Amino acid sequence: MDHEDLRSWAKRAADWAADYHGTLRDRPVRAPLVPGAVAAQLPSSPPEGAEPMETIWDDFQRIVPGGMTHWQHPRFFAYFPANAAPASMLAEQLVNAMACNALIWQTSPAATEMEQVMVQWLRQAVGLPEGYFGTIHDSATNATLSAVLTMRERALDWHGLDEGMAGAPILRFYASAETHSSVDKAIRIAGIGQRNLVKVPVDETRAMTGAALRAAIVADRTAGMVPAGVILCAGGTSVGAFDRIADCVAVARSEGVPVHVDAAWAGSAMICPEFRSLWAGVEGADSIVLNPHKWLGAQFDCSVQFLKDPGAQVRTLGLRPTYLETAGREEIVNFNEWTVPLGRRFRALKLWFVLRAYGLEGLRTRIRNHVVWARELHDRIAALPGVEIVTEPRLSLFTFALKDDAATEALLQRINDDGRIYLTQTRVDGRFAIRVQVGSFDCRREDVMLVQTTVQDLLAPCSSVPSA
Ligand code: PLP
Repeated sequence: MDHEDLRSWAKRAADWAADYHGTLRDRPVRAPLVPGAVAAQLPSSPPEGAEPMETIWDDFQRIVPGGMTHWQHPRFFAYFPANAAPASMLAEQLVNAMACNALIWQTSPAATEMEQVMVQWLRQAVGLPEGYFGTIHDSATNATLSAVLTMRERALDWHGLDEGMAGAPILRFYASAETHSSVDKAIRIAGIGQRNLVKVPVDETRAMTGAALRAAIVADRTAGMVPAGVILCAGGTSVGAFDRIADCVAVARSEGVPVHVDAAWAGSAMICPEFRSLWAGVEGADSIVLNPHKWLGAQFDCSVQFLKDPGAQVRTLGLRPTYLETAGREEIVNFNEWTVPLGRRFRALKLWFVLRAYGLEGLRTRIRNHVVWARELHDRIAALPGVEIVTEPRLSLFTFALKDDAATEALLQRINDDGRIYLTQTRVDGRFAIRVQVGSFDCRREDVMLVQTTVQDLLAPCSSVPSA
């Protein structure tokens, strides 16, 4: 296959993509497969000779789409969305064609400079003040890891990088149990040790309070340990919990401890001014992560980290061997020094396309609709016999359950086997609950209300005949 072949195949792929998206509603959301079903269709060794593209294409159509869970399905209500707006897909096609590696400014000047500008566009869009800079990571996991490593080094006055952690004091980090497991992962990878991530108790709204945070920090200091960082939750994965950001930031500031905020999901909603009270006080944070690849439509991967003092992160993660120097250009930004991996994709282009193709108003309308529809759906689900709301909507996420865990689990299984919608689970104070989050880029009100119809149809195991 050469580039002329690519021209015609790319057109065919574009037609396939349009048909795929146009028929998503006719497909089951979750792949109706048993493990191993796809692998069983693939030869166990690679071909020695070249195969015709026609054969490869036929095999793709035969094996892959039916083996996928359709994340862009308008009735995907599981996890959080990984939205890919059409304009974002177009941008990714262009990035694919250029296939660059934006490791330093010189290797992709447009990628670097657009990344700088897009971070500022997004900063304004979510109402953060001037004075934040930032970068685009692949994932919130890597952004949080970068923040934790930076907080670690700050606490060690940058000695950990050279000397390792063996002789270091015991560093303590603070987060609530509502934060995502990526925080635990970062703490483990950074050599802090899981037991030094203090899970600060939450109040009745599942928020970490300033008072609880202060008590944990003071207790650690008294015990001779070093408080090194606070990670706040702004829209937790389980039930959408928000810590009391302003109070916690004030405590952290007064204790001289830096703050990272995980707003991977809910951060996108902050383009709507009416939701910003949920993270009031966030402008005191040193680092904030927000995933446009979740709710905003700039497809995976696109995770923006805002930083007040990028110098601290660059001092932690940046290395500049001779082969990465750009002669005579000290003032330029080399984004690999802000992140863990050296190689980096041109992720800013899809953000540029999305923000322009829909405008902030277009994106706000979608998010506002999702929040309103989630509330309406919650009311309908709450009215179903035998169903209990476990947590009320936070933005567009709520949970419900039946009277006991076994019945709830069985209902979830029936729902996902049915295929019309896709939901996932969580545990709330030990109770198994079904999560509903509304956020698919192309979903309509009737898609959301189909959740109620489906749950109603499947409530009793014997009444599982779908209504038309
Ligand atoms: N933080 C929150 C609140 C999340 O919901 C998730 C994933 O869903 C993450 C972090 C991790 O995101 P990523 O997949 O970008 O690493």
